[in-house]
Parts: sequence; C-alpha cells; structure tokens
Amino acid sequence: MPNAAVTVKFLNQVKKLLFQEDKGQYIGFVAASYRATKGIYPLVVEVANGNQKYMVEQKIEIVGRQFVEQRIRVPEQTRKKVLTPANQANDAKVTAAAREKAETKLVAPLWEGPFVWPLSGRITTQFGMIRYVNNIENGRHSGWDIAAPSGTPVVSINKGQVIYAGELKVSGNTVIVHHGLDLYSSYLHLSKINVTEGQMIDKGQVVGAVGMTGLATGPHLHLTIRVGDTPVDPGLFIGKTVAWE
Ligand SMILES: [Zn+2]
Repeated sequence: MPNAAVTVKFLNQVKKLLFQEDKGQYIGFVAASYRATKGIYPLVVEVANGNQKYMVEQKIEIVGRQFVEQRIRVPEQTRKKVLTPANQANDAKVTAAAREKAETKLVAPLWEGPFVWPLSGRITTQFGMIRYVNNIENGRHSGWDIAAPSGTPVVSINKGQVIYAGELKVSGNTVIVHHGLDLYSSYLHLSKINVTEGQMIDKGQVVGAVGMTGLATGPHLHLTIRVGDTPVDPGLFIGKTVAWE
C-alpha cells in the first residue's frame, strides 16, 4: 500500500509517515530512551488506506541497563556562564526545530553500507553516563566523546543531508546530518565547520575539525546519534551495517 498512512505508537512517541514501504514492508526506527524504565510495553502500528484500516500490536521488552557516573570539572565561572538553563534550552530549541523541519516529510534511507568512525580516537565518555559538572548533575551523556587533537578532520559517519550547521551555546560549533528515516548524527564542539545547511554529503566527507567550542574541558568530538529526539548508543551504528531483509 504505497499511499497508506502509517502511525506507530511506542512509549510516549507517536510517529507518522516516517516509515518507508519496501517490498510490501514498512521500515523505520523506533527508539527507547536511556531514561526508559525496564518493562514490557506495547508497540502499536496503524495502517490506514482509504476505508481500510489495520492495527497490529506487539509487546516490546525494554531490558535494564546500568549507566555509570562521571565527574568532570570546569572553572566554576565557565559553568555558571556557559551551562545555564537558558543556554541549554536555546541549544535544544534550535536543534529540535532543525529536526522537526526535516521530519515533515519522509526521507528514504540515505545511508549506504556500514557507518564509519567520524575520526580515529579514544572514547573518553561513553553513551548514557550520568554526568556531574563540578559535582552538579547535568543529565545523561547523549553520545560519545572522542578525544583527538584540535584541528583533526571530522567526517560524516554516512551519507546524508546537513540539516544544521552553526554555533550553539553549550555545544559550540555543531553540524547535524540527516541520514534518512529520522536518523541523525551530530558533531559538536568543532573548531571549524566545512559544510552548509541543506548540503548533501557523502560518507567520509569532512564536516569540520575537532575543537573545544562551547562547554569542553579539552579538544574532543562529541558525537550524538538520534532517532527523532531520542539519543541512541552510537555503538549500535558505528562499524555496523543497518539493513532490512
Ligand atoms: Zn560529550
């Protein structure tokens, strides 16, 4: 049913349109947040085509996962000046608006083959770590921090379209790439940005250079991978191929 409207409900997310028909199947991502409580939850799929309606409900189990704490220190003055609720709200608003704009239409998978590392380096902060800045809890770590010297080229983990390229208050110079089907990668704290909004880019294409803009204790790349609004573990994608049978 190529013209069918597909709605998927899971946890408190409702997704429309963001599923693509592929040989009689609809494909798409549904993510669970690192804040989700373990348990069994319904996933409801509704397909409507004219007068015909189908509904399928399936149970999905969210298994528990422990996240460890990490404490970092920045000069107290910097924390107070940069890590303010207003600055964090500003960054969230700008990036959510960019994703919402991208999500208004179905974008078929743009990625091809395995997702590659954005640069080579050591992961210094893992996904989901409970982050304390100067002993004050600052939420979960939404992605990977990869340490590398300032100026190291940062490449796109796969093909996609740049939906945001600009300066944010806490994240510093940031690039967001849409890989299709509501899957995004973000590259933060860059010293330099090499791409512009709307640009189609290849896997491995340079998007910028490592820096420490925004709130950072040293030069590193912060990589976030999101399904819609929900950050997911980059380890699910990097070095892996996402494909449907
Ligand atoms: Zn980080």
